[in-house]
Amino acid sequence: MLEKFERYPLTFGPTHIEKLERLSEHLGGKVALYAKREDCNSGLAFGGNKLRKLEYIIPDAIASNADTLVSIGGVQSNHTRMIAAVAAKIGFKCRLVQESWVPHEDAVYDRVGNILLSRIMGADVQMVDEGFDIGIRQSWEEAIEDVKAKGGHPYPIPAGASVHKYGGLGYVGFAEEVRAQEEELGFKFDYIVVCTVTGSTHAGMTVGFAKDGRARNVIGIDASFTPAQTKAQVLEIAQRTAGLVELGREITEDDIVLVEDYAYPVYGVPSDETKAAIRLCARLEGMITDPVYEGKSMQGMIDLVKKGYFPEGSNVLYAHLGGAPAINGYAYTFRNG
Ligand SMILES: *Cc1c(COP(=O)(O)O)cnc(C)c1O
Repeated sequence: MLEKFERYPLTFGPTHIEKLERLSEHLGGKVALYAKREDCNSGLAFGGNKLRKLEYIIPDAIASNADTLVSIGGVQSNHTRMIAAVAAKIGFKCRLVQESWVPHEDAVYDRVGNILLSRIMGADVQMVDEGFDIGIRQSWEEAIEDVKAKGGHPYPIPAGASVHKYGGLGYVGFAEEVRAQEEELGFKFDYIVVCTVTGSTHAGMTVGFAKDGRARNVIGIDASFTPAQTKAQVLEIAQRTAGLVELGREITEDDIVLVEDYAYPVYGVPSDETKAAIRLCARLEGMITDPVYEGKSMQGMIDLVKKGYFPEGSNVLYAHLGGAPAINGYAYTFRNG
């Protein structure tokens, strides 16, 4: 579906799929859980889902004769860490706006994890006191103008690389990759579980799996706590992406499944149930999920298995999108394990 688009390689290649044997057994053994390890997809600053998206965006950045990537996220944004890594790799400068999206207090929150890595990679990091919003931000627009005023050539990449015109392409590729892996495995996944916030990961998967009739088998687990805005953004990106890849049919609201039950109490703050899911997955599988994103989708998947949402015999693929560096900002939360 992506042959006509230029791709700048930033990842190792197809990501590994592993069975979560002990977690599946622990939950009763009626549903087989697997993880696709997007969190181990690259040697660039610990990798993650944003790299798959950026592979289809960076050719446009290079062609535009820009010299500075400009992007935005929360203080512990994985996305801005990935932008800093990619800028270093392709020889661009990097300007990052880090907003106060998370009402979480930890003595080292703005010193460790993602933001620490971005600083080490040489990004120009600017802290801005604004709350959570996945839309286009004034602080980001001001940073773009500031780069220009100082004689630079900015290439703007929005939060999560999502509302960029090519933001949905990378995860169309994910679906194609899963189809090829299913041939080798000898079975098909009945459900794909994915964490959803700025929306292009879920949107790309929806388009990619729509090709073989599985759009509604992609189960988005909202972690934004602003699900109406997130769902609208998923739909808009999926519709644009379907046009780009010439899917041959419209994507409608009915194609988007977003489960809203696990994002509480708010974006970036883990509930007790999220923390329990993080511990359970770590202790049964040695697989680390974070309090902002993957811990919430892990909590969601575990709860949906317990509730019988997936029929007996289902094969469920958990897309592990990365994010582990942020856990350093939650050192106090996990001080006793
Ligand atoms: C960005 C991110 C997500 C959410 O992906 P979107 O495309 O923004 O919906 C989930 N998990 C991790 C680890 C992320 O960094």
